[in-house]
Amino acid sequence: MISRAKKKEYIKAGGSFCINCGSGNISAGKIEAEGREAWQEVQCYDCGSEWNDIFRLIGVDDIILPENEPKIPQVRGDKESADEHPETA
Ligand SMILES: [Zn+2]
Repeated sequence: MISRAKKKEYIKAGGSFCINCGSGNISAGKIEAEGREAWQEVQCYDCGSEWNDIFRLIGVDDIILPENEPKIPQVRGDKESADEHPETA
């Protein structure tokens, strides 16, 4: 079992070593994502351990907004069109 303290140490170091034996001879796979979580398979070539690094959304940066006018929600229009044909119900 990997202790909580060891996991903490691993996360603090940015996952740059094997969580089991401490070797730097590790290889990470592609990052996969689903919803607000992402993960990456990692394996150690020295001891053969495998684990998943887990990533979470922690912020946003480099936001590029469109140059055209932002779209205004058409809530009022929907209500008006519904009131226009009360007899068709
Ligand atoms: Zn290892």
